[in-house]
Amino acid sequence: MTILVFAEHNNTQLKGDTLKAVAAALKIGGDIHVLVAGHNAMGVAEQVAAVKGVSKVILAQDAALEHPVAEALAPMLTELAPAYSHLIAAATTTGKNVMPRVAAALDTAQVSDIIEVVSADTFKRPIYAGNAIATVQSHDSLKVITVRVSAFDAAPATGGGASIESIPVPAQQITATVIGQALAKSERPELTAARIVVSGGRALGSAENYQALIAPLADTLGGAAGASRAAVDAGFAANDLQVGQTGKIVAPELYVAIGISGAIQHLAGMKDSKIIVAINKDEEAPIFQVADYGLVADLFDAVPEMTTALSH
Ligand code: FAD
Repeated sequence: MTILVFAEHNNTQLKGDTLKAVAAALKIGGDIHVLVAGHNAMGVAEQVAAVKGVSKVILAQDAALEHPVAEALAPMLTELAPAYSHLIAAATTTGKNVMPRVAAALDTAQVSDIIEVVSADTFKRPIYAGNAIATVQSHDSLKVITVRVSAFDAAPATGGGASIESIPVPAQQITATVIGQALAKSERPELTAARIVVSGGRALGSAENYQALIAPLADTLGGAAGASRAAVDAGFAANDLQVGQTGKIVAPELYVAIGISGAIQHLAGMKDSKIIVAINKDEEAPIFQVADYGLVADLFDAVPEMTTALSH
């Protein structure tokens, strides 16, 4: 049994989510290879080679692979697939873009967003926004899998000693190019990787209030800022800060929900957080059913007080 994990990176740095995908591969067992497709990405290949449990790094380099373009990556994975029992990627925006194309090309039923490996062919995955857990057995000879990163601890980044094998990139595979990229820059940690997340909801009332209340508390705690969909739809916070079923799924050590009611679609994105703190002026708010610590208070009083107390 040999598994191929798809690595995400920015040509310099391996993304932590890939270590979670490797962790899932380690649970399945067997030989683990990792595909690093990029441009001037030898440094990334070396980082992957050091990951404990990886036996081979497959390095595909081409200027057209500088950005993770699914149109270029999917044919490459499809071509490599026959040598493997499992193809695994993190269930990130990129993983969710690339892997279904590969599964379709291979006529394989993808097993998406797994949270547990039961055996080499059986996996657990949430359905109905996390309200039920399905145990799925795949009879496909080649299994295409995406991994929910919040459900796996990262594989150790050091301690490995994999070989690096370069493979050629056929020019005809590159059918799309990136002509520009606009990235939101933030000094705060990335939402899905943060140990602490402070999220604000509709109750904030405006983008100004979000900036004035959520951002300082997140910064004081050294955490990421998040938001409910209502707050995002109302323009209080950027789209990529949405936590929930149709946003990001997070499981930090501490999640602080401020002025968020706790709709099931929001809970689907954060209920696996280790400690949940909720501030809401309605003591009947559903968020209190999942909260470890609840404060029934007006957020406009409680949040500045809390931020001040924590900064001393
Ligand atoms: P509300 O539900 O309006 O809650 C605001 C809360 O603030 C209330 O509990 C209120 O008591 C409290 N409050 C008001 N004033 C104050 C105050 N001054 N101080 C303290 N507390 C106060 N939602 C998500 O978040 N993420 C998703 O990914 C997502 N996906 C969805 C997908 C689908 C298909 C659908 C149908 C919905 C989805 N939703 C999602 C929307 C979800 O159903 C809720 O509408 C949304 O989460 C509500 O956001 P909220 O809690 O900020 O607002």
